[in-house]
Amino acid sequence: MAMIGDKLPDFQAGVDYWTNTAASVDGVLGGYGHGTPVPRLDAASSRMLILSILPELSTITPPHKSTMDASKRHRRRFRALDCGAGIGRVSATVLLPLFDQVDLVEPVQKFLQQAVKNAESGAEGWKGVKQGSKCARLWLAGLQYFDPLQPAIPVSGGKSELMATLGSSNIHCPNPATRLTLEEDGYDLIMIQWCIGHLSDEQLVDYLKRSRKALRQDKDGKCEGLIIVKENICKDSESDGAGIIFDDDDSSVTRSDKVFKQIFQQAGLTLMRRELQMGFPKELFQVVSYVLQ
Ligand code: SAH
Repeated sequence: MAMIGDKLPDFQAGVDYWTNTAASVDGVLGGYGHGTPVPRLDAASSRMLILSILPELSTITPPHKSTMDASKRHRRRFRALDCGAGIGRVSATVLLPLFDQVDLVEPVQKFLQQAVKNAESGAEGWKGVKQGSKCARLWLAGLQYFDPLQPAIPVSGGKSELMATLGSSNIHCPNPATRLTLEEDGYDLIMIQWCIGHLSDEQLVDYLKRSRKALRQDKDGKCEGLIIVKENICKDSESDGAGIIFDDDDSSVTRSDKVFKQIFQQAGLTLMRRELQMGFPKELFQVVSYVLQ
């Protein structure tokens, strides 16, 4: 372990680490897979958080509304982006059950290939994709090279490739090589979970700024979409108060709450809500969801 001053995340070392990791839930969760409460608790908490901040996603009519209202209600197409998606665990258990169209971005090809297999099997939220009521696009890229506003155009010096488009061809997919029309096609949610330790502070600030620019807006230009950062946090006192721990195994950093808040401020984001994940095994880092706009 070393301080961030000594070491920054190295993209290739991170990709190498994950390429040598099993393409399974157990693999992407560092051994805390289906034999543990982690995947279910994580997904259930995320879905509840998302429904509470974007209640219009709910397909259930609240009891105080008449059924007349429900039949008249027009449900528009909702879009989400799964960042550092791995094998698509978050898409399958959190995003696809709620959103119509999901983009996944992930730099490890083997993981995306597994996501395609999972989609073909129709397991969990992939069911809607297999049945053709939903659609998903898989992008091969590191977040430092990915621009949610125009995914086919990589950030200078990098690569961003469309690996697969799955599911309904009836759902209009915005052209990835031109800037999104935010009112029509902006993301309702950009979900960033358990991956941004692979970005330096500078890369992370830039990525959050690009993400903010790709969120849905209303017709008056008011931002309606949200970003959720769900990540491990270490203690503020870690590394002599720097609040950052470097992990040599996968070449990533774990940041403290204070460090995250500074980064969000630098990216010009407003913290709307902060939720601590409950129920995880005690030996793990604390996990926090930050809801940002
Ligand atoms: N978010 C997923 C995967 C977690 S594992 C989930 O919660 O299930 C961490 C993921 O981060 C791996 O898939 C790894 O390949 C990815 N990753 C590594 N470097 C990255 C980078 N620079 N940009 C985006 N993702 C990265």
